[in-house]
Amino acid sequence: MANLKSLGEFGLIDRLSRKFKHQAENTILQIGDDCAVYSSSKNQLVSTDALVENIHFKVSAISPGQLGQKAIAVNLSDIAAMGGTPTRVLITLGISKKISTSFLDQLYKGIHKTCKLYGVELSGGDTVSSPESFFINITVIGESRKGKLFTRKGANKGDLIFTTGTLGDSSLGLKISSNKKCKCSSQSRKHLLDKHFNPTPRLKESRLLARSSLKITSMIDISDGLAQDLHHICKQSGTGAVIYEEKLPQSPAFSKVCIDNKLKHLPLILNGGEDYELLFTLPPDGVKKLYRQFEKAQALVTHIGEITQTLNKVSLVRKNGKRETLPRLSGFNHF
Ligand code: ADP
Ligand code: MG
Repeated sequence: MANLKSLGEFGLIDRLSRKFKHQAENTILQIGDDCAVYSSSKNQLVSTDALVENIHFKVSAISPGQLGQKAIAVNLSDIAAMGGTPTRVLITLGISKKISTSFLDQLYKGIHKTCKLYGVELSGGDTVSSPESFFINITVIGESRKGKLFTRKGANKGDLIFTTGTLGDSSLGLKISSNKKCKCSSQSRKHLLDKHFNPTPRLKESRLLARSSLKITSMIDISDGLAQDLHHICKQSGTGAVIYEEKLPQSPAFSKVCIDNKLKHLPLILNGGEDYELLFTLPPDGVKKLYRQFEKAQALVTHIGEITQTLNKVSLVRKNGKRETLPRLSGFNHF
């Protein structure tokens, strides 16, 4: 296998990007020049996310292929959160000394697989050395139809709160990945690890909402944990919210592993983070239509609470009927 020194910066870029085919519409120039070029008549969405070794992942705990897949998936999730369709990515690598050519090959294999799966084009990036930690930064570009943009702002008192999928699986997956003593079946283990290491961006569900006539009033993807991300919606919308413990959707694997290992389910569901499910609000008159459309698409959606008037206050009604206020900065915070 060629080493990085003999490949050089440009040899490496060529090696990693060779397999990527043209995917997006309206591309004028793909990769390899000073800029990529495309034209568009639609709204353009742009977002960026960095993953830093030992902050977001450990090289010993995630395979490079999984890291590549996940890095793309979490960026696509941000586009899904706005009701958009991802079209392009740009990738910056910070390569530290211990990173090998084979690590980068595997990383780009995961990136390539995920880009291909969702029809996303590689438009470029940057390649630099990094003294200590490896890092990868991805910028994603997407588009949305005019008038079909979902933001965190816009929830109104009385709107119902929904989430796609199930919550807590990802953080439980991370917890059990390094715990050999965990009591869980191989099937449960696989489900939970998959949710952590190979999350599915909810593009199908997002597209369904964007194409329907449903009046989605706000939306966010759950990356920091349900409690914190619901706070984001409330803050931007100038509202509060109440959610119900008994309604929070759990996968069978999650419930069973929590019970069998005497783990508290609520902290994982509320603050675990990295679920990459969509959290959105809708006036009550749209509910029937929402359920009908999700059922038809075989996608999971659950009503978990309501938007209230109490500014910035998010409450949880426990199964015993008691009401608790959920603190705002309860998810992951870097500082
Ligand atoms: P410049 O020096 O003009 O910024 P570079 O030499 O850094 O250009 O990059 C050459 C081409 O390769 C550009 O099209 C750039 O977008 C692309 N590129 C660089 N690094 C990466 C990477 N890690 N992944 C994908 N494309 C990359
Ligand atoms: Mg450059």
